[in-house]
Amino acid sequence: MDISVVIPLYNEEESLPELAAWIERVMNANGFSYEILFIDDGSTDRSLDVIHGLAKKNENIHAVSFSRNYGKSPALNTGFRRAKGDVVITMDADLQDSPDEIPELYRMITKDGYDLVSGWKKKRYDPLSKTIPTKLFNATARKVSGIKNLHDFNCGLKAYRNAVVKHIEVYGDMHRYIPYLAKNAGYRNIGEKVVHHQARKYGHTKFGLDRFINGYLDLGTLWFQSKFGVKPMHIFGLLGSLMFLIGFIAVIVVLILKIISMNSDSYHFYVTNSVYFYLSLAAMIMGLQFFLSGFIGELITRNSPERNNYLIAEEF
Ligand code: UDP
Ligand code: MG
Repeated sequence: MDISVVIPLYNEEESLPELAAWIERVMNANGFSYEILFIDDGSTDRSLDVIHGLAKKNENIHAVSFSRNYGKSPALNTGFRRAKGDVVITMDADLQDSPDEIPELYRMITKDGYDLVSGWKKKRYDPLSKTIPTKLFNATARKVSGIKNLHDFNCGLKAYRNAVVKHIEVYGDMHRYIPYLAKNAGYRNIGEKVVHHQARKYGHTKFGLDRFINGYLDLGTLWFQSKFGVKPMHIFGLLGSLMFLIGFIAVIVVLILKIISMNSDSYHFYVTNSVYFYLSLAAMIMGLQFFLSGFIGELITRNSPERNNYLIAEEF
């Protein structure tokens, strides 16, 4: 099979028939063998009924329906586990992404040898309250992930080599960082294609402004995992040692000042009045906390079934 199209959707009943017909048209025009995987993320409208109707008319259409709304990432992950096509293409269900991009995305994966091609909504049809924070967000993501050539990490329209989707796990809200997940799994050949974007035709956006706060928190988590995931002591040990050093120096200062004041008639030094005393207390307690966090982290890592999972590219 050439292409699997994975489409996560949550309450998109109006868009689905148009979207399915459009994809069908593009696939037939290019002679692709394909499947469309609709992942219904617990829709409460008639989306599932609509998909049932579509699947009756086209045997390439399949669906998974969640019992409740889990989120876009779980939906994508479920689609990825099931996708059979050589190239897997994800797209939003709201008709903001154009199926006309499919042939070129397919060509970039199969001919140009990309592992992943991400769409870039260069000209966006979204409100300013969304586009400006998005610019900032993408700049941070580029910096942290080291994927310098991507302008639009969170574009719903992406294409993957099948092996890529089988080796990444998208959970929580991590769909914003799939290129970073792919890179961490060793798939470095990541490309970009400028794609057409349309204003939402039906329904409304499913993500509020909290996406940016959560987005940044998730980025921190991913960075931490990729750097220290299996060696937490390397960061906590370092921080702990630094804190301890600061505390130790402060204690020495306190001691020296005390000794000087004991041998002097005019200079009085009260330990509990000294800033160094409080600094030493705080720093040593924090240092100990860091060390304990590190040890607990190491114990968790040791018990993780993932600790020795390596993705092997080749073997002789
Ligand atoms: N979506 C989903 N589960 C959710 C939220 C969204 O499957 O909990 C789907 C949604 O139906 C759409 C895609 O994810 O197909 C992108 O969502 P949306 O268009 O609301 O995001 P935006 O374009 O505003 O970033
Ligand atoms: Mg949308």
